[in-house]
Amino acid sequence: MAKKKDINRCSFCGRAENEVPLMMLAESACICSDCVEMAYAQAKEVLHPQSSIKTLGKVEGDFFLKKPHEIYDFLSQYVIGQENAKKTLSVAVYNHYKRIENVGSGELIEKSNILMIGPTGTGKTLLAKTIAKLLNVPFALVDATILTEAGYVGEDVESILTRLLQDADYNVSKAEKGIVFIDEIDKIARKSDNPSITRDVSGEGVQQALLKIIEGSIVNVPPQGGRKHPEQQMIAVDTNNILFICGGAFEGIERNIANRLNTQVIGFDTGSIRSNIDRDNLIQYVAPQDLRSYGLIPEIIGRLPVLTHLNPLDRESLRAILTEPKNSLIKQYTELFKLDNIKLTIKPDVLDYIVDTAVEFQLGARGLRSICEIIMLDAMYDAPTSTKKTFTVTLDYAKERMLKSGSALIKEKEVE
Ligand code: ADP
Repeated sequence: MAKKKDINRCSFCGRAENEVPLMMLAESACICSDCVEMAYAQAKEVLHPQSSIKTLGKVEGDFFLKKPHEIYDFLSQYVIGQENAKKTLSVAVYNHYKRIENVGSGELIEKSNILMIGPTGTGKTLLAKTIAKLLNVPFALVDATILTEAGYVGEDVESILTRLLQDADYNVSKAEKGIVFIDEIDKIARKSDNPSITRDVSGEGVQQALLKIIEGSIVNVPPQGGRKHPEQQMIAVDTNNILFICGGAFEGIERNIANRLNTQVIGFDTGSIRSNIDRDNLIQYVAPQDLRSYGLIPEIIGRLPVLTHLNPLDRESLRAILTEPKNSLIKQYTELFKLDNIKLTIKPDVLDYIVDTAVEFQLGARGLRSICEIIMLDAMYDAPTSTKKTFTVTLDYAKERMLKSGSALIKEKEVE
C-alpha cells in the first residue's frame, strides 16, 4: 500500500514524502522523483545503449566528451587563427569534463574556469558557443554589464543560471553540466582604487556576487529570472560542474602589461628580453597581475585560473573568415542562391574589396557581414523571381552597390 499512517511513502525506496524532493501519487502507489530519475536512466541504458554515452553520477550524462585534439579540430572548422586560445580552451574544456566524468576526482581536480582577453569581434563568443555545440551541453550567454549587486536596478547574478536552466528546458541536472559565457567581464572592473567612497554596485559588488556562483555552490535560482522575492519558488542549482568562460576586451590593459614588463626587467641584464617583446601585441603577455591592476578582485582572478588571449584580426584573417569557416559568409550566400537554383560566383577581388572596406572603417569581423549584406541585397531581392541560372558579383558591381546603398561611410570616402 502506498499510504501508511497517512504519510505517503515511495513504493520503491520506502522514503516518506518529507524525505524526497517530489512525490507522485497514483491510486494505489507512490513514486518519488529520485526513483523516477533512476528508472529513467536504467531504461535508457537498456533500451538505447548507444545514446547514453556515459552516466555521470546523475541521470543526464549524454554530453559528448571529446579529446583536446578533437575539440581543437572542431573549433578550427569555425574559428580562424587564435591558435593559443583554441589550444588552451581545448585542454581546459577536456579537463573540466573529465573531472565531472570521474566523480571521485572532483574534489582533487580544481575547476578550470576560463578567462579570454582580446579585442571585440575577434571570436571570443564564437569559441564558447562552438564548444557548447560540440559537447551538446546547455549554453547561456550573459552580458556582465546588465548585472548589479542584489537590491539595485539591474539583474541579480542568479539570472545567469536562469538562462542556463531555460536553455536546458529546466532539466536541472543537464544545466548543472552546462557552459556559461559571461561577456564584457572587464566592464565590472573596480571603478576606483578606493571602494569605500561610494558603493560600486555594478563593479566590485557584482564581482563579489559572481564569486559564489563561479566557484561552485548551491544557488537558489528564480525560474523565470527577474528579482527574487520571498513567495517565489526557487530551483536549487549546483554550480560545481558548470564551466564558466569569461570574456572581455580589457581596453587599455596594454598599459598595465607594459608597466609590469618594464618594472620586471629593471635591474637585470635584460637587453635581449626587451628586444624580444612584441610591442605591437602586448596582450599576448597578459598575466593575472595585470588583471588585478586593471580592477578585477584577486578572488575572481583566482576562480578563473585558465587565462588566454585573442589576437586582433589582420587582413589575412578577415579574408579567411569570409570563405574558410564551415558556415562562412560566402558559403552561406552560395547556399541561399543555390536554393533558388542560381549558381553564385563572387570574384576574388570582391572579397579583397570587402576586407579592405572592413579594415578601412575598422569594422572588424562583424563588419564583414554588414558589407556583404549591402552588396548582396538587390541580388537576393531578385533571385527568387529571376530566370537566370548564374549570378556573378564583380568588383564594379560590388562598388556600385556600396555607393548606391547610401552607406554613409562609403559616400564620405568617395567624396574625399
Ligand atoms: P567577441 O570577441 O566580441 O565575442 P564574436 O565571437 O562575437 O566576437 O565575433 C563576432 C563575429 O565575427 C562572429 O560571429 C564571427 O562571425 C566573426 N568572427 C570573429 N572572429 C572570428 C574568427 N577568429 N574566426 C571566424 N569568425 C570570426
